[in-house]
Amino acid sequence: MKLHGIERSPEEKINWKSSFPFLLIHALVLLTFWTGITPTAAVLFAVMFWGRMFFITAGYHRYFSHRSYKLGRTMQLIMAFGGGMSAQKGALWWASHHRNHHRYSDTDQDLHSPQKGFWWSHVGWILCDKNNDWNEDDIRDFAKFPELRFLTKNDWIPIWFGAMMCFLIGGWSGLVFGFFASTVLLWHCTFFVNSLAHVMGRRRYATTDTSRNSAIIAFLTMGEGWHNNHHYYQASCRQGFYWWEWDPSYYVLKGLSFVGLVKDIKEPPVRVKTAARVRDGQFDMGMFKAYWGKAGAALHNVRLTRQSDDVDTLAVTDPELATHRQELDELIARNRAALAEHVAHAMAAAEELGRLTRRQNRQTGVID
Ligand SMILES: [Zn+2]
Ligand SMILES: [Zn+2]
Repeated sequence: MKLHGIERSPEEKINWKSSFPFLLIHALVLLTFWTGITPTAAVLFAVMFWGRMFFITAGYHRYFSHRSYKLGRTMQLIMAFGGGMSAQKGALWWASHHRNHHRYSDTDQDLHSPQKGFWWSHVGWILCDKNNDWNEDDIRDFAKFPELRFLTKNDWIPIWFGAMMCFLIGGWSGLVFGFFASTVLLWHCTFFVNSLAHVMGRRRYATTDTSRNSAIIAFLTMGEGWHNNHHYYQASCRQGFYWWEWDPSYYVLKGLSFVGLVKDIKEPPVRVKTAARVRDGQFDMGMFKAYWGKAGAALHNVRLTRQSDDVDTLAVTDPELATHRQELDELIARNRAALAEHVAHAMAAAEELGRLTRRQNRQTGVID
């Protein structure tokens, strides 16, 4: 963790040219004033929003990224195609980046940590050139399927299919409101899991990141708002660990398991659910790191400022005062450097402890 606040490399700058389609679809929603909202378009909006949300959360996230249940090859393809309709690139791109997020949560290597700024974690990270490609090493288990590679390479196909269907069923209103408007809402609700779910809500479990549980985000995203539960125990398909934690993606998958389309749904064991609770005094590494990171950045930005020109003028006329002032300046500078070093050591120790905790969790099966 660097102690210099937000720093971005040139390839982490937003590429406005390649981001144009993303911004254009936002603007096209305004055409709703011209097309109006027909009852068919309203139904399409709801179906396209919740339907594609399911494909993203149950498919791209819980299946392709975390393998928290099993599917046959046809169902796997349907999940990849459905997720592809949400215009969030292909399943292999999405899942490989998401696995990366879990591996490096809230460290410098995290692709979308809000520690680098809220908007960066929300959309910035997908609008820059840095994350255009996907790394095969991160997703060898699914990259071996040619149909998934094809859909990831030609990620426009499901998007155009969804748009055409909406147009054929609901005309211009169906396309503009049923498809474009639902896509924009779907985007931002999905992105909330990367941004808001790391800053808003409560922490039940001590993890090495800043993930939180939020009922509001869970409502908007069919259960993805229990993000602290999820970071703590990624192997589980069920993210709402208790009956009161709304998790419809899990309920639908459970329903599909009764008819044999979904198999081996992983649930959180009781011993996992009751361990590592912040409430029970477990040391909260994730928040410790976040606060020390902020302290380091604040310290870096402190500038020693002379109080006023009057003091300088006075110092020129009084040599004794000038010497005393210089001594004090040097003392402050020395203390500041010592404090910065202390923060840097504390952060390095926290990073190391975080790495060890993650390795231990992997070995004990708490995470993949
Ligand atoms: Zn995840
Ligand atoms: Zn996260």
